Amino acid sequence: MGQQTDVIVVGGGLAGLVAATELADAGKRVTVVDQEGEQNLGGQAFWSFGGLFLVDSPEQRRMGIKDSHALALEDWMGTAGFDREEDHWPRKWAEAFVDFAATEMRPWLHAQGMRWFPVVGWAERGGYGAVGHGNSVPRFHVTWGTGPGVLAPFVRRAQAAREKGTLTFLFRHRVDELLVEAGA
Ligand SMILES: Cc1cc2nc3c(=O)[nH]c(=O)nc-3n(C[C@H](O)[C@H](O)[C@H](O)COP(=O)(O)OP(=O)(O)OC[C@H]3O[C@@H](n4cnc5c(N)ncnc54)[C@H](O)[C@@H]3O)c2cc1C
Repeated sequence: MGQQTDVIVVGGGLAGLVAATELADAGKRVTVVDQEGEQNLGGQAFWSFGGLFLVDSPEQRRMGIKDSHALALEDWMGTAGFDREEDHWPRKWAEAFVDFAATEMRPWLHAQGMRWFPVVGWAERGGYGAVGHGNSVPRFHVTWGTGPGVLAPFVRRAQAAREKGTLTFLFRHRVDELLVEAGA
């Protein structure tokens, strides 16, 4: 497979589809391997409610919700309680996700056609305070079309790359081991 593809993505759920379509659109040859059949394309996201974590969005501002990058990060840290050495990468991931959710995430998705219900929900609200567990303000942006609406742009882009020949799906192929040879 190394000669046929630049990248192998394991899993055609939302995470795999986003990675695969970004890579294919950047000119890489990508193979997506999924243990399920094609009817499962998109994984759990197909069944999800499609509620997205966005920070200081126009939808929130219209409702008078005062959100910020600092508050979202404080909420995340208060919920996660990272205090061990092995929390290093989860903490880095949390910081990167809050950065993304407060800046380029909404315009990037909006440009791909995604839209959100104008009433922002308050999921995982915890104890209502800025210190401690949970979202201290509503941040749950329900996508029009719910989970399938979140998947739609990525399924569309994946099918286009497939037709172009830059993306290959191997359904009903399960990965059971990662082999590392000479550091690769
Ligand atoms: C009913 C429901 C409602 C939800 N609502 C929301 C919501 O409103 N907001 C929100 O943010 N999140 C929600 N979620 C959670 C969200 O949908 C998931 O966290 C997200 O879709 C996970 O995406 P993923 O790509 O990481 O994983 P998955 O969707 O689990 O995809 C993993 C893929 O990898 C494949 N795979 C696994 N192991 C192998 C292997 N060894 N070899 C080959 N293939 C393999 C699987 O077949 C699958 O297709 C909801 C989830 C459910 C089930």
